[in-house]
Amino acid sequence: MGLIADNFSTITARMGSAAGRAGRDVRAIKLVAVSKTVGVPEISAAIDCGIRDFGENRVQDLVLKKQLFPDVRWHMIGRLQTNKVKDVLGAAAIIHSLDRWDLAEYIEKRAQRELLTVPVLIQVNMAGEASKGGIAPANVEEFVGALSQLHNIRVVGLMTMAPAVSDPEETRPIFRETAGLFRHLKDNNYPNVSMDILSMGMTHDFEIAIEEGSNLVRVGRGIFGPRKEEGYRIGNA
Ligand SMILES: *Cc1c(COP(=O)(O)O)cnc(C)c1O
Repeated sequence: MGLIADNFSTITARMGSAAGRAGRDVRAIKLVAVSKTVGVPEISAAIDCGIRDFGENRVQDLVLKKQLFPDVRWHMIGRLQTNKVKDVLGAAAIIHSLDRWDLAEYIEKRAQRELLTVPVLIQVNMAGEASKGGIAPANVEEFVGALSQLHNIRVVGLMTMAPAVSDPEETRPIFRETAGLFRHLKDNNYPNVSMDILSMGMTHDFEIAIEEGSNLVRVGRGIFGPRKEEGYRIGNA
Protein backbone atom coordinates (compact mmCIF):
# COMPACT_ATOMS: atom_id res chain seq x y z
CA MET A 1 0.00 0.00 0.00
CA GLY A 2 1.12 3.54 -0.63
CA LEU A 3 1.69 6.09 2.07
CA ILE A 4 -1.65 7.82 1.57
CA ALA A 5 -3.53 4.52 1.60
CA ASP A 6 -1.70 3.57 4.83
CA ASN A 7 -2.51 6.91 6.39
CA PHE A 8 -6.12 6.64 5.30
CA SER A 9 -6.61 3.26 6.91
CA THR A 10 -4.95 4.50 10.11
CA ILE A 11 -7.20 7.56 10.26
CA THR A 12 -10.38 5.58 9.53
CA ALA A 13 -9.44 3.02 12.19
CA ARG A 14 -8.88 5.82 14.72
CA MET A 15 -12.18 7.41 13.71
CA GLY A 16 -13.87 4.06 14.31
CA SER A 17 -12.34 3.69 17.77
CA ALA A 18 -13.28 7.23 18.76
CA ALA A 19 -16.85 6.68 17.53
CA GLY A 20 -16.96 3.40 19.44
CA ARG A 21 -15.86 5.08 22.67
CA ALA A 22 -18.75 7.52 22.26
CA GLY A 23 -21.22 4.79 21.30
CA ARG A 24 -21.63 6.32 17.86
CA ASP A 25 -21.80 4.85 14.36
CA VAL A 26 -18.67 5.85 12.45
CA ARG A 27 -20.60 5.71 9.19
CA ALA A 28 -22.39 8.87 10.29
CA ILE A 29 -19.07 10.74 10.46
CA LYS A 30 -17.68 12.24 7.28
CA LEU A 31 -13.98 12.54 6.57
CA VAL A 32 -12.92 15.57 4.53
CA ALA A 33 -9.33 15.25 3.30
CA VAL A 34 -7.71 18.68 3.52
CA SER A 35 -5.60 18.87 0.37
CA LYS A 36 -4.29 22.43 0.64
CA THR A 37 -0.71 22.55 -0.80
CA VAL A 38 -1.15 18.98 -2.06
CA GLY A 39 -0.75 18.11 -5.74
CA VAL A 40 -2.51 16.00 -8.33
CA PRO A 41 -0.81 12.60 -7.65
CA GLU A 42 -1.68 12.76 -3.96
CA ILE A 43 -5.28 13.73 -4.66
CA SER A 44 -5.55 10.88 -7.17
CA ALA A 45 -4.20 8.48 -4.56
CA ALA A 46 -6.76 9.72 -2.05
CA ILE A 47 -9.57 9.26 -4.57
CA ASP A 48 -8.29 5.72 -5.18
CA CYS A 49 -8.75 5.10 -1.44
CA GLY A 50 -12.41 6.05 -1.80
CA ILE A 51 -12.18 9.60 -0.45
CA ARG A 52 -14.82 11.80 -2.08
CA ASP A 53 -14.61 14.98 0.01
CA PHE A 54 -11.70 17.40 -0.09
CA GLY A 55 -11.06 20.67 1.73
CA GLU A 56 -9.23 23.74 0.47
CA ASN A 57 -8.59 27.05 2.18
CA ARG A 58 -7.89 29.17 -0.91
CA VAL A 59 -10.47 29.86 -3.59
CA GLN A 60 -8.03 29.69 -6.52
CA ASP A 61 -6.82 26.26 -5.49
CA LEU A 62 -10.34 25.00 -4.89
CA VAL A 63 -11.56 26.19 -8.29
CA LEU A 64 -8.60 24.70 -10.12
CA LYS A 65 -8.79 21.36 -8.31
CA LYS A 66 -12.53 21.22 -8.90
CA GLN A 67 -11.78 21.54 -12.64
CA LEU A 68 -9.20 18.76 -12.43
CA PHE A 69 -11.37 16.51 -10.24
CA PRO A 70 -14.98 17.49 -10.93
CA ASP A 71 -16.53 14.29 -9.57
CA VAL A 72 -15.58 14.75 -5.92
CA ARG A 73 -16.87 17.36 -3.49
CA TRP A 74 -14.76 20.41 -2.67
CA HIS A 75 -15.23 22.10 0.69
CA MET A 76 -14.21 25.71 1.23
CA ILE A 77 -12.72 25.74 4.72
CA GLY A 78 -10.62 28.92 4.77
CA ARG A 79 -11.39 32.57 5.29
CA LEU A 80 -13.35 33.82 2.31
CA GLN A 81 -12.87 37.31 0.91
CA THR A 82 -15.94 38.93 -0.56
CA ASN A 83 -14.24 39.50 -3.93
CA LYS A 84 -13.72 35.73 -4.28
CA VAL A 85 -17.34 34.81 -3.64
CA LYS A 86 -18.26 34.80 -7.33
CA ASP A 87 -15.54 32.22 -8.05
CA VAL A 88 -16.35 29.87 -5.21
CA LEU A 89 -20.12 29.67 -5.73
CA GLY A 90 -20.99 26.61 -7.73
CA ALA A 91 -17.50 25.16 -7.19
CA ALA A 92 -17.69 24.55 -3.44
CA ALA A 93 -20.08 21.89 -2.15
CA ILE A 94 -20.23 23.66 1.21
CA ILE A 95 -18.67 26.83 2.56
CA HIS A 96 -17.50 26.02 6.11
CA SER A 97 -16.32 29.50 6.96
CA LEU A 98 -19.24 31.91 7.01
CA ASP A 99 -17.90 34.22 9.69
CA ARG A 100 -19.46 37.66 9.18
CA TRP A 101 -22.61 39.36 8.00
CA ASP A 102 -21.14 41.28 5.05
CA LEU A 103 -19.91 37.98 3.60
CA ALA A 104 -23.42 36.53 3.96
CA GLU A 105 -24.84 39.54 2.10
CA TYR A 106 -22.35 39.09 -0.76
CA ILE A 107 -23.11 35.38 -1.04
CA GLU A 108 -26.84 36.05 -0.96
CA LYS A 109 -26.67 38.74 -3.66
CA ARG A 110 -24.48 36.67 -5.94
CA ALA A 111 -26.41 33.44 -5.38
CA GLN A 112 -29.66 35.23 -6.18
CA ARG A 113 -28.26 36.34 -9.50
CA GLU A 114 -27.08 32.82 -10.33
CA LEU A 115 -30.24 31.14 -9.03
CA LEU A 116 -28.26 29.08 -6.53
CA THR A 117 -28.91 28.00 -2.98
CA VAL A 118 -25.60 27.94 -1.15
CA PRO A 119 -25.08 25.55 1.77
CA VAL A 120 -22.96 27.14 4.50
CA LEU A 121 -21.67 26.38 7.95
CA ILE A 122 -21.34 29.14 10.49
CA GLN A 123 -17.81 29.33 11.78
CA VAL A 124 -17.90 29.73 15.55
CA ASN A 125 -14.94 31.20 17.38
CA MET A 126 -15.63 29.21 20.52
CA ALA A 127 -12.20 29.77 22.05
CA GLY A 128 -12.36 33.53 21.45
CA GLU A 129 -9.02 33.56 19.64
CA ALA A 130 -8.20 36.96 18.15
CA SER A 131 -6.16 35.28 15.39
CA LYS A 132 -9.12 33.32 14.06
CA GLY A 133 -12.30 34.25 12.28
CA GLY A 134 -15.71 33.19 13.45
CA ILE A 135 -18.77 34.43 15.24
CA ALA A 136 -18.52 34.78 19.02
CA PRO A 137 -20.70 32.11 20.64
CA ALA A 138 -22.89 34.73 22.33
CA ASN A 139 -23.80 36.19 18.92
CA VAL A 140 -24.47 32.98 17.03
CA GLU A 141 -28.19 32.81 17.79
CA GLU A 142 -28.81 36.30 16.48
CA PHE A 143 -26.65 35.56 13.43
CA VAL A 144 -28.58 32.38 12.58
CA GLY A 145 -31.84 34.24 13.05
CA ALA A 146 -30.76 36.87 10.54
CA LEU A 147 -29.46 34.26 8.08
CA SER A 148 -32.73 32.35 8.23
CA GLN A 149 -34.34 35.35 6.49
CA LEU A 150 -32.09 34.98 3.44
CA HIS A 151 -33.42 32.86 0.60
CA ASN A 152 -30.30 31.85 -1.29
CA ILE A 153 -28.17 30.83 1.68
CA ARG A 154 -28.97 27.70 3.60
CA VAL A 155 -27.31 27.21 6.96
CA VAL A 156 -26.61 23.50 7.36
CA GLY A 157 -24.51 23.50 10.52
CA LEU A 158 -21.53 24.82 12.44
CA MET A 159 -17.77 24.70 12.07
CA THR A 160 -15.16 25.39 14.69
CA MET A 161 -11.40 25.20 15.05
CA ALA A 162 -9.93 24.48 18.45
CA PRO A 163 -6.74 26.25 19.52
CA ALA A 164 -3.50 24.48 18.60
CA VAL A 165 -2.34 23.07 21.94
CA SER A 166 0.18 20.34 22.65
CA ASP A 167 -2.30 18.19 24.55
CA PRO A 168 -5.45 17.74 22.42
CA GLU A 169 -7.36 16.78 25.56
CA GLU A 170 -7.38 20.51 26.39
CA THR A 171 -9.61 21.10 23.36
CA ARG A 172 -12.42 18.97 24.74
CA PRO A 173 -14.36 21.81 26.41
CA ILE A 174 -14.30 23.80 23.14
CA PHE A 175 -15.78 20.88 21.21
CA ARG A 176 -18.27 20.11 23.96
CA GLU A 177 -19.57 23.67 24.08
CA THR A 178 -19.81 23.86 20.29
CA ALA A 179 -21.79 20.60 20.23
CA GLY A 180 -24.09 22.01 22.92
CA LEU A 181 -24.67 25.15 20.87
CA PHE A 182 -25.32 23.00 17.80
CA ARG A 183 -28.02 21.01 19.61
CA HIS A 184 -29.57 24.16 21.01
CA LEU A 185 -29.80 25.75 17.57
CA LYS A 186 -31.24 22.55 16.16
CA ASP A 187 -33.95 22.62 18.83
CA ASN A 188 -34.79 26.21 17.88
CA ASN A 189 -35.98 25.00 14.45
CA TYR A 190 -35.21 28.13 12.46
CA PRO A 191 -36.92 28.34 9.09
CA ASN A 192 -34.57 27.66 6.18
CA VAL A 193 -31.91 26.26 8.55
CA SER A 194 -31.00 22.60 9.00
CA MET A 195 -28.51 21.89 11.74
CA ASP A 196 -27.09 18.70 10.21
CA ILE A 197 -23.34 19.16 10.02
CA LEU A 198 -21.00 19.73 12.94
CA SER A 199 -17.59 20.26 11.36
CA MET A 200 -14.88 19.98 13.99
CA GLY A 201 -11.62 18.12 14.48
CA MET A 202 -8.34 18.16 12.57
CA THR A 203 -5.31 15.86 12.52
CA HIS A 204 -4.26 16.40 16.12
CA ASP A 205 -7.68 16.56 17.74
CA PHE A 206 -10.24 14.72 15.57
CA GLU A 207 -10.71 11.86 18.04
CA ILE A 208 -11.67 14.23 20.85
CA ALA A 209 -13.99 16.07 18.44
CA ILE A 210 -15.70 12.80 17.48
CA GLU A 211 -16.09 11.82 21.14
CA GLU A 212 -17.82 15.17 21.66
CA GLY A 213 -20.22 14.84 18.72
CA SER A 214 -18.48 15.98 15.54
CA ASN A 215 -19.92 14.43 12.39
CA LEU A 216 -17.40 15.88 9.95
CA VAL A 217 -13.65 15.92 10.53
CA ARG A 218 -11.18 17.87 8.38
CA VAL A 219 -7.91 15.96 8.25
CA GLY A 220 -4.93 17.17 6.22
CA ARG A 221 -1.53 16.07 7.54
CA GLY A 222 -2.94 12.84 8.92
CA ILE A 223 -3.69 11.74 5.36
CA PHE A 224 -1.16 13.55 3.18
CA GLY A 225 1.74 13.87 5.63
CA PRO A 226 3.37 17.08 6.85
CA ARG A 227 2.91 20.18 4.70
CA LYS A 228 6.10 21.68 3.35
CA GLU A 229 6.62 25.37 4.02
CA GLU A 230 7.13 25.99 0.30
CA GLY A 231 4.83 23.15 -0.66
CA TYR A 232 3.83 22.41 -4.19
CA ARG A 233 0.71 24.28 -5.15
CA ILE A 234 -1.33 23.71 -8.24
CA GLY A 235 -2.24 27.38 -8.41
CA ASN A 236 0.43 30.03 -8.32
CA ALA A 237 -1.39 32.83 -6.48
C1 LIG B 1 -5.47 23.13 7.36
C2 LIG B 1 -6.83 23.00 7.95
C3 LIG B 1 -7.28 21.76 8.43
C4 LIG B 1 -6.44 20.50 8.43
O1 LIG B 1 -5.38 20.62 9.33
P1 LIG B 1 -4.43 19.35 9.62
O2 LIG B 1 -3.75 19.71 10.87
O3 LIG B 1 -3.52 19.24 8.45
O4 LIG B 1 -5.32 18.18 9.75
C5 LIG B 1 -8.58 21.69 8.92
N1 LIG B 1 -9.38 22.78 8.95
C6 LIG B 1 -8.97 23.98 8.50
C7 LIG B 1 -9.91 25.13 8.58
C8 LIG B 1 -7.69 24.13 8.00
O5 LIG B 1 -7.29 25.33 7.56
